Amino acid sequence: MKQNLSPWIDQLNRTRDVHLLSDNRETDVAIIGAGIAGISTAYFALTTTPYKVFLIEGDKVAHGATGHNAGQIVSYFERQISDLVKEFGITQTSEAQAAVDSAWDLLEEIYKKVKLRTPFAQFTGYAGCQDLAEVIVHLENNMYARETHINMEPLMVAEESGITEQIPKTYDGLYSIVPQKDILSLLETEDPRYIAALSSRKGVMNSALFCEELLDYLFREYADRFTLFEESHVSDVVLSDSHAKLKIRDKEITAKKVVLCTNGFEKFTITNTNGADINTQFHHLVNGSVGYMAAYLEDHTKSPTAVSYLPAAQKTGDPVMDAIPYFYLTRRTFESEANQLHSLICVGGPEVRMDDTDNYTHEHPYPEEAQSVIDQFLHKTYKHAPTGEITYKYKWHGLMGYTPNGVRCIGPEPINPVLLYNLGCNGIGILPSIYGGKKISQFLNNEQLAPSIFDPKDSRLQ
Ligand SMILES: Cc1cc2nc3c(=O)[nH]c(=O)nc-3n(C[C@H](O)[C@H](O)[C@H](O)COP(=O)(O)OP(=O)(O)OC[C@H]3O[C@@H](n4cnc5c(N)ncnc54)[C@H](O)[C@@H]3O)c2cc1C
Repeated sequence: MKQNLSPWIDQLNRTRDVHLLSDNRETDVAIIGAGIAGISTAYFALTTTPYKVFLIEGDKVAHGATGHNAGQIVSYFERQISDLVKEFGITQTSEAQAAVDSAWDLLEEIYKKVKLRTPFAQFTGYAGCQDLAEVIVHLENNMYARETHINMEPLMVAEESGITEQIPKTYDGLYSIVPQKDILSLLETEDPRYIAALSSRKGVMNSALFCEELLDYLFREYADRFTLFEESHVSDVVLSDSHAKLKIRDKEITAKKVVLCTNGFEKFTITNTNGADINTQFHHLVNGSVGYMAAYLEDHTKSPTAVSYLPAAQKTGDPVMDAIPYFYLTRRTFESEANQLHSLICVGGPEVRMDDTDNYTHEHPYPEEAQSVIDQFLHKTYKHAPTGEITYKYKWHGLMGYTPNGVRCIGPEPINPVLLYNLGCNGIGILPSIYGGKKISQFLNNEQLAPSIFDPKDSRLQ
């Protein structure tokens, strides 16, 4: 098996030729990076503005994080709502949550309009909690939800858990008490450590296949003003007051606006000839982390699901297991060889911090330890896991990036608005990328938007 083959890349049908930049060209909007952020941005730019759009990809479409993620659609943040409220206040936090939630509708609208066939299942998914401390975190989030229009996530606590008497009265009405067997059944586990479960809207989709199919639509519908360049790494971006020049090998693209959809690992220089230096250290602030995943096939007898297994605040003493923030498991219908339908079980969890992300490549080795940790998790927790050795059909890894405040950056650069961002930087990015694409099109249309937690920071003020 390859060191890094994801089911998402394996399902691509690639039929197009690579189109390289052969002359200097001009465009209205240049989007750098053709993952789900870049494709969504191109989609909204083309469908809502009259502009000519170039999409420029250094590698191949959807071969970055978009082709190496866990394929789970969720609308929560990497940070707890209560934590975001402390930094941004309740109004901006609840508006931000509503904004990311709105991407569910955007995704459905795209499916309807484009008549996409990429499988996309939606359902109620779950997250299992092991102790009071974790339960309180979610109750706190639900408190804020009750005060605003954020959707509350129903929380069930096991009557046998012994923690119900310890939950402060302020949280009354924010959870229900149920038999533990009901919680274990929703979490599809017999592991008695799980004493509470949160439920929320979740989904599964191959985001790389989604990009490929959406791209076909853009080629068909907007042939007159849409161009894709692949294997075209942008090495320099030079900004002036009215345009940007992008250097690709010995050629140049001149664009009135340039949107970075590079996920934070762009490896290029930015020179601003109109005003202060743009913080070219931006991408060095993005902390990289490699996430490891594995997947195997099961008989196609169960419906799709997505379950997160959150860790106990109380550590186990095993340093490898204790370092894992949480395991996430999805099950989805998967068309395998000979058009046979199976269920694909994907599990992620192990992550390794990478200080110098320039060293990360797709050929980065897949450590045996990552697989053994996933094995242990499956045998201990997923009740439908095979009893003996698990034969994985896919093992893969991807690079996640975290901005210092763990929030996606969407909008114009305050120092020079010729440059815009719809990037990163977290391990939950499918819906935020789509929302970001829509928001960028609003900026391109010169709409006045209220300040938000996604606004790029002005580095002159820091
Ligand atoms: C292991 C892992 C698991 C994840 N699981 C989930 C999940 O279950 N659910 C979820 O919502 N999110 C998940 N994510 C996050 C999600 O995949 C990403 O947030 C999302 O795919 C980011 O899309 P993107 O388009 O911003 O980035 P990418 O898909 O990484 O695309 C960026 C593109 O920019 C290109 N590029 C960069 N620099 C240049 C340059 N100089 N010139 C030209 N091109 C350039 C790159 O080649 C790349 O193709 C996960 C991520 C990882 C890594």
